[in-house]
Amino acid sequence: MPQGPRTTFKVFDLSDEIQSALAELGFEHPTPIQEKAIPLGLSGRDVLGKAQTGTGKTLAFGLPLIERVDPTRISAQALVLLPTRELAQQVAEHLEVVAAARSVKVALLVGGEKVRFQRARIPGRQIVVGTPGRILDLCRESLLHLEWAELLVLDEFDRMLDMGFIDDVKRIVDFLPTDRQTMLFSATAPPEIRKLTSLFLTNPEVCEVAAGLKTADKIDQTALRVSPMDRTEVLLRMLEKDIKNDLDRTVLVFCNTRRMVGELDRELWGRELPAAALSGDFEQSRRFQVMDGFREKRIRILVATDVASRGLDVDHVGHVINFDVPLEVEDYVHRVGRTARAGRSGRVTTLVVPAQERQFKRILQTLGKDIRIGRVKLPGGSRRAVVMDEPRHGSGGRGGSGGRGGFGGRGGFGGRGTPGLRRDSGSSSDRRPPRRGR
Ligand code: AMP
Repeated sequence: MPQGPRTTFKVFDLSDEIQSALAELGFEHPTPIQEKAIPLGLSGRDVLGKAQTGTGKTLAFGLPLIERVDPTRISAQALVLLPTRELAQQVAEHLEVVAAARSVKVALLVGGEKVRFQRARIPGRQIVVGTPGRILDLCRESLLHLEWAELLVLDEFDRMLDMGFIDDVKRIVDFLPTDRQTMLFSATAPPEIRKLTSLFLTNPEVCEVAAGLKTADKIDQTALRVSPMDRTEVLLRMLEKDIKNDLDRTVLVFCNTRRMVGELDRELWGRELPAAALSGDFEQSRRFQVMDGFREKRIRILVATDVASRGLDVDHVGHVINFDVPLEVEDYVHRVGRTARAGRSGRVTTLVVPAQERQFKRILQTLGKDIRIGRVKLPGGSRRAVVMDEPRHGSGGRGGSGGRGGFGGRGGFGGRGTPGLRRDSGSSSDRRPPRRGR
């Protein structure tokens, strides 16, 4: 959890309702980005925030939005754009908790869901949170009116550019009044991004927090050299061990491509593991279902692309496994940041096949980190036993899990009995999880 200085939220000009909601959440001290951005947001200034997920930036822009919109008006007065559906969902949920205190309503509008379900959700919502493609479609079809949206937030702007959304964002901004306040947040802001930010911001105040490219100290990071042939088997062994030994925590497995996520998903299919996969290839209803299942720990192993590494905020991830070495150092940092949240410890294991070893060393060098790459032997290449020469994993010691690991038979996980764990359960795109009523 982000650590704020000793200032309290009381110093801000926030209504009593918001102050009580924050107290109820147990948030007493603002985080550094909140301390800088909230007064600016409340004053109507444009803001360029350099901050990563995990710094508390959602409320840094969210509290001014919630404070400044008028809950008695039915029009959309604030728009928050994010690059992925998962991030949008998370931000909407986060804002809703505080917004409810002022009777402010939040609409989540993302792709992958039928427009006819969403259009009913638009009237009477003062804050709209969504992804660029869907927001643009709704504006063009005159289903969403943004001419009164005088507050705009562009979150994860660098990611938005990476994903090719810049033209959509420009078109959306044309639907908003020119006389508006814009807050733009980006984890990085090199000169080429700064140039683009000037398209949206007028004389912005820059707020920067020193998150940098550092990974948290309380994360135990290790790496294992594996052959491509053994990699899946090694992963399965680790998962079996984790699931058995740490009943309270979950595991996130990262792959670089959707294809690899699909392959692992098939590999995990039918095994007695509470696992599910998440990538952009899956229907939205399925993605929501998987995210909910993971948050609630019904799904304890999530295999995902980097879509899940940005912003996923659950405090029970005990182990992050890089099935692939990430391509960019930023992705490594984001993946690592999914564990050891809310003051808990965590560990990260990177599986390094020879073709990715140079890449891994480059990442370590950039981070100034020294991680010894241990070895894994799979005797006979079979599932009989695995001997892992694991370089210190805190709790584990030497890790041969030996034998079948105790997940066979009935009463295990996965399979037909566990709701929402498998792709065949309710994956029609309009069958949404019941909980979500935005
Ligand atoms: P974010 O960077 O907005 O994704 O926030 C990361 C996490 O920090 C979320 O779990 C928030 O609920 C939590 N958080 C945000 N603001 C505070 C605060 N002032 N004090 C403690 N936790 C916070």
